[in-house]
Amino acid sequence: MKKSYSNIYTFNKKTLGKTINYLKNGNVAGLPTETVYGLGGNAYRKSPIEKIFNLKGRPKSNPLIIHYYNLQDAINDIEVNEYLLKLYKQFCPGPITFILKKKNQSKINPLASAKLKTVAIRFPKHKIIRSILKKIDFPLAMPSANKSENLSPVCAEDVFDELKEKVKLIIDGGKSKIGLESTVVDLTDTPEILRPGVININLIEKVLKLEFKKNTKNKIIKSPGMMKKHYSPGIPVLINQKKHDKKSAFIYLGSRYQNKKKFFSLSKKSNLKEAASNLYTIMRKIKKKGYKKIQISKIPYKGSGIAINDRIKKASQTL
Ligand code: AMP
Ligand code: MG
Repeated sequence: MKKSYSNIYTFNKKTLGKTINYLKNGNVAGLPTETVYGLGGNAYRKSPIEKIFNLKGRPKSNPLIIHYYNLQDAINDIEVNEYLLKLYKQFCPGPITFILKKKNQSKINPLASAKLKTVAIRFPKHKIIRSILKKIDFPLAMPSANKSENLSPVCAEDVFDELKEKVKLIIDGGKSKIGLESTVVDLTDTPEILRPGVININLIEKVLKLEFKKNTKNKIIKSPGMMKKHYSPGIPVLINQKKHDKKSAFIYLGSRYQNKKKFFSLSKKSNLKEAASNLYTIMRKIKKKGYKKIQISKIPYKGSGIAINDRIKKASQTL
């Protein structure tokens, strides 16, 4: 039988109304998006932003992504440029975040963007979050609904797992389709990828008709949130593993170890998009089963595999 949670709500007309009022009153809620579940609050007000940082235990130096229904709604907050228009047309709504210059007149609370002159914006695609954004007259500051450094939640129960009853309202929108955080592209100057995602570098290059510099080392630091340790299941993670140590949980691609205990496939067909969508669910499951360590085999460095490698590399950091 499915466990029942006092703060997880099925989405319907009544709970939509409740969510809207809740957000209008300055509260924060656990909300579904196609990437991962978010902890959303009014981006124009200070108190919900403070609640978000406190609930997550997130350093105030790490800015939040601001979520809008469409570009028209964002126009007073950000400086629009050609790159944004091209990427917006191709990929939005969808799992891509843009860093842009903030307009002086912007109403975004400075705390949400860590007092920077730039701001990260996204137009999520999940129909529940879109129906909420359409009905409110402010954007949502919304980082992933997990404790800082932990794995992002990809279903309502994961949000509960992370934040328990500290969030009074969590909307159940099923499993997040993408399952990894959005691609982050800095468009304040020559475009740069700050965080890889399922909308991958090649796709973005094609639309912008330019090539990104391949050395990404320095870029990581440009984004305040890209601290080393992140996306951690709470137990040690070892990557590029060839041999099972007989004790740990072993994550791999394909069906080679099907039905073997301690082996967990990200995708039986070795499909990297599917693998990305299963990564966090599998790591969370492994942790819950009581394993003490996770080994992960080599994941191809192409397509969604680039984003998977980025996340598991950070999950494997001990500091
Ligand atoms: P999260 O909210 O956890 O999905 O992470 C959002 C990511 O976007 C973090 O790594 C932030 O550091 C990054 N980000 C947000 N705003 C900015 C900004 N103005 N400049 C650079 N990176 C940003
Ligand atoms: Mg996060």
